[in-house]
Amino acid sequence: MRAEGIAVVTGGASGIGAACCRELATAGAKVVVLDRNLAGAEAIAKEVGGSAYHADVTDDAGMKAVAEKIEAEVGPVATLVANAGILAFPARPFDVSMDTWDEINRVDQRGVYLSCVVFGRAMVQRRKGAIVTIASIAGMRSMPIHGYASAKAAVISITQCLATEWGPAGVRVNAVSPGFVQTPALQAAIDKGERNVETLKANAAMGRTVRMDEIAKAVTFLSSDNASGITGVNLPVDCGWLVTGSWHT
Ligand code: NAD
Repeated sequence: MRAEGIAVVTGGASGIGAACCRELATAGAKVVVLDRNLAGAEAIAKEVGGSAYHADVTDDAGMKAVAEKIEAEVGPVATLVANAGILAFPARPFDVSMDTWDEINRVDQRGVYLSCVVFGRAMVQRRKGAIVTIASIAGMRSMPIHGYASAKAAVISITQCLATEWGPAGVRVNAVSPGFVQTPALQAAIDKGERNVETLKANAAMGRTVRMDEIAKAVTFLSSDNASGITGVNLPVDCGWLVTGSWHT
């Protein structure tokens, strides 16, 4: 699979984002790792022969400035992976504090939209580009993490809205919805006893969690010319969690 041109990955310093950086680089892209954790971004950039930029996806002015800087210093961005996100697991779903709710929505919903808009503007002008947002199976069916699940449902809606608006300009926008992936974020919740990894595995048809590279391969496919006729879709990569129908996570 070939990935042409410059690919920006938000939240690229860890987990699924870092896996996307590795996969896109292997496929031939020049990778830009964007993260609020600059040291982590620099480490992944060094590994994949790319470059690193600091940005917080919730910062309007900072995101606009970093997008302009990347276009000026690295070149025209062909692919954006809007991946940066945070997880939170309250003991009971409705125990989520409203401060946590707001923070999740600022990063996971508003941050994804802002990332798409600041990088999408130049793509629309050039009439070329591919965006992949990272949603979640939590956004596709009820799950006992209300704030997170509703923010991820919004990511799927944002993906569809932008795909519709930017389709005539040749910019494709698709989502990937991961199932449970043992990234540092989920592993921390497992280690704290907030989630039971055996339950997560048992509830997936394939009896396991999803590997990070499996998400990254789907992202790379959707960003590549192999997916030239695909826009507005939401592709679950969940080892069959959705087909089993369990609320327990
Ligand atoms: P992770 O914590 O391992 O990595 C997230 C990265 O995003 C980190 O490098 C972090 O510094 C960065 N980040 C967080 N907030 C940021 C901000 N405001 N600005 C810039 N960077 C920021 O998490 P992960 O599990 O790899 O999650 C990546 C994405 O995948 C998230 O959108 C998450 O919701 C989604 N997802 C994860 C799972 C899972 O099981 N791990 C399942 C479904 C969806």
